Amino acid sequence: MPNTYHCILTHGGAGSDAAFRDGAETACRMGMDALGQGTGALEAAVRGVVALENDGRFNAGVGSRARADGSVQMDACVMDSDGRFGAVAVIEGFRNPVLIAHKLMASEHCMRAGRGAAEFALEHDFETWTGRKGTADASYEGSDTVGCVAFDGTRFAAALSTGGTGGSPAGRVGDVPLLGCGLYAGPYGAVAATGKGEAIARNMTAFRAYQMLEEGMGPNFVIEEVLDWFEEDEDIGLILMSRKAWAGQSNRSMAWSGLSEGEP
Ligand code: ASP
Repeated sequence: MPNTYHCILTHGGAGSDAAFRDGAETACRMGMDALGQGTGALEAAVRGVVALENDGRFNAGVGSRARADGSVQMDACVMDSDGRFGAVAVIEGFRNPVLIAHKLMASEHCMRAGRGAAEFALEHDFETWTGRKGTADASYEGSDTVGCVAFDGTRFAAALSTGGTGGSPAGRVGDVPLLGCGLYAGPYGAVAATGKGEAIARNMTAFRAYQMLEEGMGPNFVIEEVLDWFEEDEDIGLILMSRKAWAGQSNRSMAWSGLSEGEP
């Protein structure tokens, strides 16, 4: 009999206001609806992130904060447990970067940056967006990237999207589009990280967390270990799942949510 256990987790980023949990819950519900319709984990994770990109309260999609020079540059990526990966970096002028990353999965060149990413998006008729140009919010120091991990009973998937850390220079790229840093999905689980991208990348965070799941460690144990890799001034948050369990935690406030249906 096919496994009908479905599970989805979403986060609104390390540093996001925990009072915005309703946004993470709505995104979980949208992803869970997709799982119920049989779309598979990848589509569910993408839909979860689209909901968060459209929310406006998180630093991704229409909520993306301006860079130090006033530009809005976004990174996004998706991965599934078949090893497929797609990513965009420093893309400008589009509403839902995660959809462009998803489209790139099927392309020969699965990661595009800057002008090339925008050209690819225009060629594929993605919705442009010019909403939040302007000056950087100097009072904003958080990150509030968004992410989602999903399991459809067979496959795992993970997706991330961000406007980058607050006030960062134009052209800066964090962990999000780097495979195994901000996210990883494999046959034993899925991991999505958030926080200071430079530290997340230096620790190869998502892949090393995944390896612990593969070795049979539980999600709660893995999170405690991972949080220890970071200094106090480095914000870090994680959502992750194995075939049997899931967990989420951050060393800052973090709006996040999880839903499961059926028996693992
Ligand atoms: N990790 C993201 C970055 O460094 C930001 C975040 O997750 O909050 O771009």
